[in-house]
Amino acid sequence: MPLSSDPQDKARSDLLVMFGSSGDLAKKKLFPAIYRLECRGRLGVPVIGVARNDWTDADLHEHCRASIAECGEDWDQDAFERLISRMTYVCGDYNDPTTFEKLRTAAGAAQHPIFHFAIPPSMFATVADGIARAGLASGARLIIEKPFGRDLDSAVELNTTLHEKFPESAIFRIDHFVGKEALRSLLVTRFANAIVEPLWTRNFVSSVKITMAESFGVEDRGNFYDSVGAMRDVVQNHLLQMVALLGMEQPVNEHSKALRDEKAKVLEACRVVEPSNYVRGQYDGYLDVAGVAPDSDTETYAAFRLDIDSPRWSGVPFFLRAGKALAETVTEMTIEFKSPPRPLWLGDHSHLPNNSIRIEAKPENFAAITWLHKEPGETMMPDAITLAPPPDERLDTGPEPYELLIEEAMKGDPTLFAREDSVLESWRIVERILTDHEPVERYTQGSWGPAGASRLTRTHGRWPSEPPAPAGDGR
Ligand code: NDP
Repeated sequence: MPLSSDPQDKARSDLLVMFGSSGDLAKKKLFPAIYRLECRGRLGVPVIGVARNDWTDADLHEHCRASIAECGEDWDQDAFERLISRMTYVCGDYNDPTTFEKLRTAAGAAQHPIFHFAIPPSMFATVADGIARAGLASGARLIIEKPFGRDLDSAVELNTTLHEKFPESAIFRIDHFVGKEALRSLLVTRFANAIVEPLWTRNFVSSVKITMAESFGVEDRGNFYDSVGAMRDVVQNHLLQMVALLGMEQPVNEHSKALRDEKAKVLEACRVVEPSNYVRGQYDGYLDVAGVAPDSDTETYAAFRLDIDSPRWSGVPFFLRAGKALAETVTEMTIEFKSPPRPLWLGDHSHLPNNSIRIEAKPENFAAITWLHKEPGETMMPDAITLAPPPDERLDTGPEPYELLIEEAMKGDPTLFAREDSVLESWRIVERILTDHEPVERYTQGSWGPAGASRLTRTHGRWPSEPPAPAGDGR
């Protein structure tokens, strides 16, 4: 079920065009996603792949088959044959207008094509222009991959260029994190639980901590990663989208505009991050990765404190961190509550944790609450327990994010896509620290990142998952 749909009727897309069909994203995510849609009877439209390789339709079909097989999908031969029976290939360079002439012929009588831009961001404007010049813009939709710009100015410029040919309602900026089950269920956790929502404010919350940690490095993507870094790769987009969902007010209705309005307001209320609140790290060994500059200062770890000047969050720090080659792979959001007054029967209760709600998005999908209860026996000493769903209820059995998001875009429902204002606000928040920052601090692979990140949270405890600091290290 989609989160919502707007009241007006929207025509479903009747053709899917995959620019970048020979690329990494198409192979890893997009072919498996459209196959799953076909298996569920949710695709049912022609698919055209467009790239430079001198491929035939049969080559594209084989590439599609291999992509699906490599993802370990259950094999449904009927669904696969249905999919490739409607799949064709257009070979051409995006800089060449004849590519789009060929595409127009291949598109036939499609009235509402959807164009997925799984291509280098430097080609977004060129391809949008080619589509429009070929007369294919009317009734069309665009799915635009991240990153949307490199900074505020380039994002504004890209928006302006796209809007010359396409209205905002035709532009679907994808952030696959927003399609994750955990982020969609966050709204239910927040707004469907009468005991949660009233506490989700500055009156009770002491801090919010968000982590996106990966236990692996940049692997064979050194060339790409070195020009991007953690801040542009995942923080400006994925982590700030999480902030928006964690921090927003309840939308006034279930339509996409209301939800996207509330998300945008949270980002609008965020202060620009100060360089003194920003820590950058780089794992040992990164400089030896193929494609990385020998003197690279690109961050493979980024952490900062974010302050939100809204009535709900004023004075509550949000701590965000993301990094590669860390101790484990985990994406989580932790809401830490303030300390209660000292229980009368306890002299020292400083060792007890505060209440917290932890939402794990990866590797599992669940929300847990940490709670104090009395230890059994004569003692009145409290002990912390964590209330969480059993392991078999933590699985993510819903559609994969790309599967869901492609379907939502084809229906014309923008709820789960980033709107222009949110993207620009996100760049505004990090704009200063993109250039005004300290050099990277080195950290050991398999650790929790540079020591500076622990200092960042010093007044608000430690990061979740991080072991307590050794006694006497001054943190
Ligand atoms: P790749 O470099 O692997 O693929 C790029 C694709 O674009 C290829 O199909 C390539 O065709 C095609 N292409 C590039 N230039 C031209 C041109 N001038 N004319 C015709 N075709 C061209 O990139 P990715 O798949 O990794 O990334 C694509 C987009 O998705 C990027 O915006 C990226 O940031 C985003 N993304 C990628 C993720 C990933 O895991 N890979 C994750 C999230 C987002 P050819 O093979 O002929 O060169």
